Amino acid sequence: PSTMREVMLEVPNVRWQDIGGQDEIKQKLKEAVEWPLKHPQSFLQMGITPPKGVLLYGPPGCSKTLTAKALATESGLNFIAVKGPELFSKWVGESEKAVHEIFRKARAAAPSIVFFDEIDAIAVKRGASSGSSTSVADRVLSQLLNEMDGVEPLLNVTVVAATNRPDIIDSALLRPGRIDRVLYVGPPDLASRKAIFDIQLRKMAVADDVSTVRLAEITEEFSGAEVVALCQEAAMAAMEEDLNAEKVEARHFEACRAKFKQRTTPEMLE
Ligand code: ATP
Repeated sequence: PSTMREVMLEVPNVRWQDIGGQDEIKQKLKEAVEWPLKHPQSFLQMGITPPKGVLLYGPPGCSKTLTAKALATESGLNFIAVKGPELFSKWVGESEKAVHEIFRKARAAAPSIVFFDEIDAIAVKRGASSGSSTSVADRVLSQLLNEMDGVEPLLNVTVVAATNRPDIIDSALLRPGRIDRVLYVGPPDLASRKAIFDIQLRKMAVADDVSTVRLAEITEEFSGAEVVALCQEAAMAAMEEDLNAEKVEARHFEACRAKFKQRTTPEMLE
């Protein structure tokens, strides 16, 4: 069906340098996903099995999706991205077929990466989703498990998945041979926040009194997405004051920081 085109190879355009900080996660992901697909002989030589899949988990807005996209761009590997919830909404009654089709495409495009964003939507603990014995959700999960250890071996295809809710994911999916590597993508620390501000401010017109060191200091417990949002709000504040303003000044950032509504609560960042 024509709708399947929507899961076709998507070429993201995010580079590692677009992501502030998070150096360890960038490196770990390269090792776990790029190395096995590009240097399988090294793994053979060492006698170790590369992971079939990697789960990125952590609070919202902290660069899980961004990191997966950069991995795709930078590795040059074929990349098929699927948003978990879309599997149900776009392919009503055909969700299992859609899963099968995604993996068929991934095999055909190997070496490739299949990225499931918000995987919790399709991999909730079995039986937890509804009263009936085999709900659609259960069947989709079974299909996913089948594809991962199936009759046709998943050669040169690595699954990368992201979630804010690792606790609700069916443990069968996380067994060896499936998504057996788990990486925590945490909130940005001071240095990472400074790096994110540096990236954002490079694209903006800012006055000399703006210091990214200072900005990083006053945004403790901000997610990466919130750091970006603060930059946008500060620029809007400068424009509200004077539509002909040429630059965003430090006071605009300070004022917006003071009234910034955080959507990420401290508990979410734990
Ligand atoms: P969710 O769980 O809500 O999907 P996520 O962890 O996948 O969140 P992303 O979608 O990667 O988060 O990030 C959201 C936005 O926040 C990005 O598009 C980007 O603008 C910004 N952002 C987050 N972290 C960073 C970072 N480390 N460097 C630069 N931008 C960032």
